[in-house]
Amino acid sequence: MSKTEVQQELRRQLSNDSEIYFPFNSEFANYTERWSEAVAPDIAVVVVPATAQDVATTVKFANAVGIPFYVVNRGHGTTISQLNLKHGIEISMRSLANIKIAKDGNSALLGGGVFGDEVIKTLDAKGKVTVTGTCTCVGVLGPALGGGFGRYMGFYGLATDQIISLDVVLADGSLAKVSATSNPDLYWGMRGAGHNFGVVTQVHYKIHDRPTADWYYTIMFFTADKLEEFFDLLNALGNNGKQPKEVVVYALFTMNPQISTAEPVILFSAQYAGTAAAAQPYFAPFMKLGPVLAINDTVPYPDLAEANGNGVNSPVCQPGGSGSLNPVGLKEYNVTTSRAVYNLFKEMVTRHPGLNGSIVQLENYPVQKMKTIDAASTAYPHRSDNVLVFVSLHSYTSVLTEFPYSSLTPIYAPSDILDLIAAKYADQARALFDAGEPHRPLTAYVNYANGKETVEQVYGYEAWRQQKLRALKKKYDPENRFRFYNPIVR
Ligand SMILES: Cc1cc2nc3c(=O)[nH]c(=O)nc-3n(C[C@H](O)[C@H](O)[C@H](O)COP(=O)(O)OP(=O)(O)OC[C@H]3O[C@@H](n4cnc5c(N)ncnc54)[C@H](O)[C@@H]3O)c2cc1C
Repeated sequence: MSKTEVQQELRRQLSNDSEIYFPFNSEFANYTERWSEAVAPDIAVVVVPATAQDVATTVKFANAVGIPFYVVNRGHGTTISQLNLKHGIEISMRSLANIKIAKDGNSALLGGGVFGDEVIKTLDAKGKVTVTGTCTCVGVLGPALGGGFGRYMGFYGLATDQIISLDVVLADGSLAKVSATSNPDLYWGMRGAGHNFGVVTQVHYKIHDRPTADWYYTIMFFTADKLEEFFDLLNALGNNGKQPKEVVVYALFTMNPQISTAEPVILFSAQYAGTAAAAQPYFAPFMKLGPVLAINDTVPYPDLAEANGNGVNSPVCQPGGSGSLNPVGLKEYNVTTSRAVYNLFKEMVTRHPGLNGSIVQLENYPVQKMKTIDAASTAYPHRSDNVLVFVSLHSYTSVLTEFPYSSLTPIYAPSDILDLIAAKYADQARALFDAGEPHRPLTAYVNYANGKETVEQVYGYEAWRQQKLRALKKKYDPENRFRFYNPIVR
């Protein structure tokens, strides 16, 4: 079929408010830009559906003419499996961005194209909160379909645990309601392995009364001579999965030329749902350790991400670089292997300055609430992990832009050579973290997975999980049309 025929046929079938873009249209670049250009799928045409029916129509059309399709919302997917899409139709979710709070204030209807920042702000205006990604530029559904880690998970569990029901377009283009009572088998599968099964046009999502208007935060920088003591403190705070629900912390190995141009520093970012006074018992030991630089403030929740360098305008959220995340789930930090990862990271940024915008991120979310939910009740397989580490390697160049996040500004296009070098270091760093817990097999959060992991590492080692997922795939997507995001069936 020629481009003109595709356009004419889609235009005839889709509603008037839907949009269609080809590479020669100026809007095409806007709809296909990605956080990591290195894993950009090959898109021939973008469809921006205006309704759920438009999504169904597009899927049916793609199937009829034998063109693969791929759903894109905010474009943060970092897996190499996206490269398997060749000459495909992008179904952009951006126009399906409704946010409607239910009358009882306990839930909201969210369009399949909403993202963190707009949901946080809309809910906050009504005194409500829910679980969305910590980086507020990411979509709500992308994270939630694979688990979803965010600041409120200590209170309410994972993003996926907020899903009451989903309006889904299945692989054959039919519409389905997915909930505990409607297609319950798929309801299980879509909460953890959801990218494999359908296009979510709308989710009915739990929301909650805002427990606090303001959050306290502090950002501290430590030099590497404090590393061992620092990890002991992190482990004590993590307390084997019993970190208080109000406490969200993450740490980074990162270059910060304001402190040192010779070696990476440890950035400690600690946030507390409440006042500075209430936060002190948890964060004072880190202050006592002697950071070289520290800031703190208390801000309304909607401003917290920007203040911490992970809001929509922060460098880390900007598209156009080249990056992969490379996750490992842990029980706690092995201090010896954490030092070894630091040394490896230092070697990498010293030998390859083009990679010095990279980070090793160590995420300590409060996990106790997600552990109260029966691990077998959803397809999210890693509820026993306490710590989420990822080795985020970018072919970015560090540019002094703003304090405290001085790097992460991409200034040149993705580089094949640097990407290869970065991948090698990522594998080594992951192996080191993994070796620190020799009694546990490697687990990889699907939304951070780089696409080279095994199905078991991503979706769980239990044979019953694998069987259940494969059976669901056979039932709901026998042609494996949803296969471009860390697929179950390869
Ligand atoms: C800078 C950055 C910050 C991140 N921060 C967090 C974080 O704080 N917490 C966290 O848990 N994860 C985080 N992630 C990982 C994130 O969960 C995934 O990248 C997620 O897939 C992003 O969704 P998206 O809509 O932004 O990206 P996209 O690339 O548009 O989507 C990713 C996948 O989700 C599918 N998808 C998206 N919307 C729908 C839908 N409506 N129906 C069906 N499928 C859909 C797409 O088909 C695709 O397979 C982060 C990643 C990056 C790069």
